[in-house]
Amino acid sequence: MCDFMTKDQLAYYKGQMEAQIAELEERLNSQASQAIATDTNEMADEIDRASIEEARRLELNRIEHDKLHLRKLRAAIRRINEGDFGYCESCGDEISLKRLQARPESRYCVECQSTKEFNDTHVFRRVA
Ligand SMILES: [Zn+2]
Repeated sequence: MCDFMTKDQLAYYKGQMEAQIAELEERLNSQASQAIATDTNEMADEIDRASIEEARRLELNRIEHDKLHLRKLRAAIRRINEGDFGYCESCGDEISLKRLQARPESRYCVECQSTKEFNDTHVFRRVA
């Protein structure tokens, strides 16, 4: 059980994340139907089609981003239920309350997160 947070704090984070999940699910549902709606427009000329394609691409990026966020939130709620919430998955330290306040779905402490981001950027640059 997470011993640096009270039950009330855990319940607070859980409530926050459940609200975010509901919001994301609602947005994903409306985004999916919008993406289908633009698909049926066959009257558009070449330029319109290009901008529609671009808009759809951005929309799909947003959908992917939302889905990823949703997965993170669900995993964090699972960690609350299992008692692992609030600890860094990499070094096992407590994640600061300030950080959890801003992003309750955080899996790493600030130090591990910045190391990870540095490595991700580094790998990405090397591949690109
Ligand atoms: Zn850490």
